[in-house]
Amino acid sequence: MNKGGKFARIMKFGGSSVGSAERIRNVAKIVLDALRQAQGKPTKGGVAVVVSAMQGVTDKLLALDFDFVKEKHLAAAKELKVPAPMELLNELELVIKGIKLLGDASPMALDLVASFGERLSSQLVASYLNKKTLSIAVDSRELVKTDSNFQNAAVDFTATNRNIKKFFSKLVVSRQSSVVVPVITGFISSDSAGKTTTLGRGGSDYSGAIFGVALGVDVVEIWTDADGIMTADPRIVKSAATLPQVSYEEAFEMAYFGAKVVHPATMLPAIKKNIPVLIKNTFNPKHPGTVIIGSAAKDGKIVKNVSAIDGMSLINVGGTDLAGVPGTAERVFRAVSEAKANVVLIAQASSEHTICLAVRNFEADRAVNAIKKEFENEVRRGKVAVERRDSQSIVAVVGDNMRGTPGIVGRVFAALGAAKINVSAIAQGGSERNISCVVNEGDKTAAIRALHREFFENVGELKIFLVGTGVVGGELLKQINLQLTTNDLQLKICGIADVEKMYLSEKGIDLRNWKKSVRAGEKTDLSKFIAEAAVMGGEKVFVDCTASEKIAKMYPQLVKSGFHIVTPNKKFNVSSHKEYTNLRSLLATHQKSFHYDANVGAGLPVISTIKNLLAAGDQIKKIEGVFSGTLSYLFNNFDGKRKFSDLVAQAKALGYTEPDPKEDLSGQDVGRKLLILARETGLPAELAEVKLENLVKPDSYFAGRIKKAKAKKSVLRYVATVQNGRMAASLKEVPMGNPLASLSGADNVFAIYTKYYKNPLVIRGAGAGAEVTAAAVLNGILRIKNGKTN
Ligand code: ADP
Ligand code: ASP
Ligand code: MG
Repeated sequence: MNKGGKFARIMKFGGSSVGSAERIRNVAKIVLDALRQAQGKPTKGGVAVVVSAMQGVTDKLLALDFDFVKEKHLAAAKELKVPAPMELLNELELVIKGIKLLGDASPMALDLVASFGERLSSQLVASYLNKKTLSIAVDSRELVKTDSNFQNAAVDFTATNRNIKKFFSKLVVSRQSSVVVPVITGFISSDSAGKTTTLGRGGSDYSGAIFGVALGVDVVEIWTDADGIMTADPRIVKSAATLPQVSYEEAFEMAYFGAKVVHPATMLPAIKKNIPVLIKNTFNPKHPGTVIIGSAAKDGKIVKNVSAIDGMSLINVGGTDLAGVPGTAERVFRAVSEAKANVVLIAQASSEHTICLAVRNFEADRAVNAIKKEFENEVRRGKVAVERRDSQSIVAVVGDNMRGTPGIVGRVFAALGAAKINVSAIAQGGSERNISCVVNEGDKTAAIRALHREFFENVGELKIFLVGTGVVGGELLKQINLQLTTNDLQLKICGIADVEKMYLSEKGIDLRNWKKSVRAGEKTDLSKFIAEAAVMGGEKVFVDCTASEKIAKMYPQLVKSGFHIVTPNKKFNVSSHKEYTNLRSLLATHQKSFHYDANVGAGLPVISTIKNLLAAGDQIKKIEGVFSGTLSYLFNNFDGKRKFSDLVAQAKALGYTEPDPKEDLSGQDVGRKLLILARETGLPAELAEVKLENLVKPDSYFAGRIKKAKAKKSVLRYVATVQNGRMAASLKEVPMGNPLASLSGADNVFAIYTKYYKNPLVIRGAGAGAEVTAAAVLNGILRIKNGKTN
């Protein structure tokens, strides 16, 4: 049953998404998925689709290349096994012939030709979808009404909204309780005389919003070939990152200044009804993409995006007569506007003798002539000169938080200057959400990269993102704060998350009252935490001070998103060997470090020592030791005079054990450390291969063992060993002279036997405790700061 035009979503697919038969099949899959989800909803049971012309088709139509267009659609129709759109193609052939014959490529004629792109693609997509679910092609020219400004028409919203509502309320389809999926042409419209108009290049995004808002959908979705709006065009900047959330204003400004992933006008209808616009990747539908809503992300980011528009001309109107003469600027702008040229940028030259404006190349003649005419007398007397420079680009940095943040213009200038790029004009937009500069077209790419580096890749200070503020996390912050006040550590904490709350700030969190900031932060959402952190520039370290397996599972994604990782959490390193090696190769590919020294022996340099020995060509023959502080304490104090269980109770009271001492006695934690060390020596081992003696046993067992040991002048130790590919831990008798015998308190000991160290290298000391563990984590962070990968 059709629910009377109640559409949950409008899904606009761009030219890249419908560029071939294979891609159209992929689009159908996405639409059918969406339909299934929508049909589960109580009210809005449908989805509506808007399509662009197939990739490259609009350009070819405007070049009057009929053959290309015909071949492309016939091939796609054949592959999709749908009827060839012969009627449309025949009509198109006639139109193109006519234009060529008359030599009339007026904007009006070109709009008619261009309209075939969307009409053809909507027919193909609808025919294919119709094989799976009920679907019809809808020609938007009958619904979207505009003025007669061909190629860039302005929408008459009153008529358009009325038409759309009426059309879709009458669209009753009742075959097998299906909901019809309309496949609407984007980009095209008609004027009051019924002549075909278009909304400007890239305008089908705008169509998506126009239909979405008229139909009252919950979300306008723009499906394209990038993972949302990124910090720069990913084709220009390899390290560009997705912006998870931007405001309507930011999105408008980014799009206006060249982020062509979405047409700027898209935001205008959406903003009025406060409907979110979602930018999604057709080729990576699982990626969350970018959501455009009323407010910018609270990520403390100042600059969000660097983009550029090509094909600009810079016009300088200068001369002594302009200085201080009131009304001059007004005359310039009136002349240009009457010539119907759109001023993209106005720059205030420092001299005040010059008015500087940027217009599109194809409007430059008009603009220059209009200005010359307006200042005819002054020009003749040589008092005013009008200069024009073509092949210019406007490069812009955009961000809501630029408002009221001083120093951005300076950074833009410095970054471009350092890259030896000549800036011929610079302007801060009226909204203060952007700073734009005019550069030579040839310098555009270098300018974008230089600015992206400045605002997103600046490796000045290492940015730390901490998850987990328990004993170790809290201690770590305390130690960092202490160091920051006395040393120039060159690092700052830009994000802290605990189980309940999280707080991010690119400027850095004041560690004197971090607790207050976190408490006032937002509800913890780790994906959001990571996404917002990932967008910040510079070298970033993710510090995991939890014992969470869920967070450990995120390490591969974190590395891909550009984070180094430092952690005392053992969970990742005991996952399957496949995951273990996969992460290692990801780290190599993305040139990121992973420091986990605190996994074994807390602050003791066990893992780093093994790494160093191996790097120097040594071979590890055997590692033997006492890896558990709790078990160390128990057997250092067990003399057989007291019951073993009493000793355990005492240790628990002193806080030496886990809340449930069975966890220590089971040996599980020793097993994990064994596996981590074994893997460190190159063994492709799994946790299940570790052989552990479980010490959850009756007192009589321990009484018997200690008696035997004493008789041999030995002591009892829970000894863990890695040797010959085997990992095992059990209660052993250790003779007095052995390095494992002379232990006190809750110390750990590691005896490393190697090709060079036949007498073992022994590392002994406190193997647990918040202070030593946090210090080991801080040491890992500082090693990254110093560019050490191990
Ligand atoms: P569609 O065919 O879906 O309309 P477009 O080619 O119009 O796609 O827009 C998508 C392209 O926009 C991307 O492939 C990307 O190269 C480019 N682009 C430019 N700036 C950005 C940006 N800031 N974020 C993402 N993509 C961008
Ligand atoms: N097909 C049109 C163009 O290429 C509209 C669009 O793709 O959004 O400009
Ligand atoms: Mg587009």
